[in-house]
Amino acid sequence: MVTPISYHQSMTDEMSYGNAIEHDVRKIAARLGVADFVYTVPVLSKGAGGSREVGDGLLISNGHGAILQVKTRDPVSRSETGESWLAKHGERAYRQGKGTRRQISEQQKAGEIVTAFPVRAEDWSPEVRERVGLPLDMDVSDWQTIIVVDHPEMDGTQPTRTDAFWITTDDWLMLNHAIRSVTGLLIYVERVLEAGPNVCPRLGYEAERFEQMVQADAKYAAAGGTRSRPWLTADSLNDPTGAALYRQLLERIWPEESGQLLQVPIGDTRRILEFLDDVPPGMQVEAGRWILRKRSEIRDRPWASGAWMFNSERLFVFGCSPSDLFEDIEHFDAKLASLACVRAKQIGLQGNSITSLLAVGHIVGDGYIDYRYIYMEPPIDASPELMRSVGHEHGVFDPEAGQVNFPKAARNERCPCGSGLKFKYCDRNT
Ligand SMILES: [Zn+2]
Repeated sequence: MVTPISYHQSMTDEMSYGNAIEHDVRKIAARLGVADFVYTVPVLSKGAGGSREVGDGLLISNGHGAILQVKTRDPVSRSETGESWLAKHGERAYRQGKGTRRQISEQQKAGEIVTAFPVRAEDWSPEVRERVGLPLDMDVSDWQTIIVVDHPEMDGTQPTRTDAFWITTDDWLMLNHAIRSVTGLLIYVERVLEAGPNVCPRLGYEAERFEQMVQADAKYAAAGGTRSRPWLTADSLNDPTGAALYRQLLERIWPEESGQLLQVPIGDTRRILEFLDDVPPGMQVEAGRWILRKRSEIRDRPWASGAWMFNSERLFVFGCSPSDLFEDIEHFDAKLASLACVRAKQIGLQGNSITSLLAVGHIVGDGYIDYRYIYMEPPIDASPELMRSVGHEHGVFDPEAGQVNFPKAARNERCPCGSGLKFKYCDRNT
């Protein structure tokens, strides 16, 4: 059911086996979620001359956070059984996780804010890396510890501490394939730990817990009516291509070659990534396939677009066009931005309030696609003229039905496009 990837491949001669696994556990989350929310270990100074690592990695996104601890058995030592190994090394990982949380809090109290750096920036030059550093100034008291264990005889072993999230490396890989989002992964971990000690399964049985949660969400959503959808589904496992299509939106923010300029200001980059990463795992495949469908529409017309409310406050707008129809990128961006602001206002006029707006554009050329990003928080208020021109050309978005309707009203009624004009004046010359 899972396409396995080799997670031992980054092991090099310079690294010990343990370091290589640690590195790989971070990389799995980074590659399948977002490398921007998986942070490498900042080093805290610890008194005279010493330094101390903070966890084996940190996962931080959308106000959620967790400390990653990785424990690996050296393949040459074969003396211990899984159970005794876990009792010793698992306990150490558990204590280290608690220690890390305490350490970050203590540094905050002392006014020494540590900066963490995303895995993506590992190989960047120090001055560029500095710009994407995340100061650890947030409340970390509710951060969970995720303990990933790598041991050949671990399956079936019961972890003794039930207030941490335990998982084997194989299951970690499966879970990352299934959730495909760091925010989603953190919410999943919080949810299972909130459920209490009874749902702490034996190691090697994460697929069962995942399945139980999928079923619970499906049942819950079914009781919530037709518009209710499960937060978690197995869709990303069943359609990895659909999920990958969606994840491209996050990946393509970064230039393909390092050293090139970002098209999005660095200050907005994390906000955009968080916006996109906060889509429920059960929605990513659908959103990925939807984008693909929209893109196919420009085979027989010059422009295709759509709007999607990711939740009651966040609006996602997608637009695409063949590259030869726009003289320059600014022209395309202006059109996309106008459409996005109008969609946000149309939804606002129907009683919803959009606090953040992300528009993603695809300029489709011969063998390439340019990704464009426009982010507004809150959206710019569209002028009556813009409401009129866009509303009559592209219709009015109905968030309830998730569809676009073209303005229609009696001649002397106010036009539903939001321009404020009577329909008879508004609809002519469009
Ligand atoms: Zn109108």
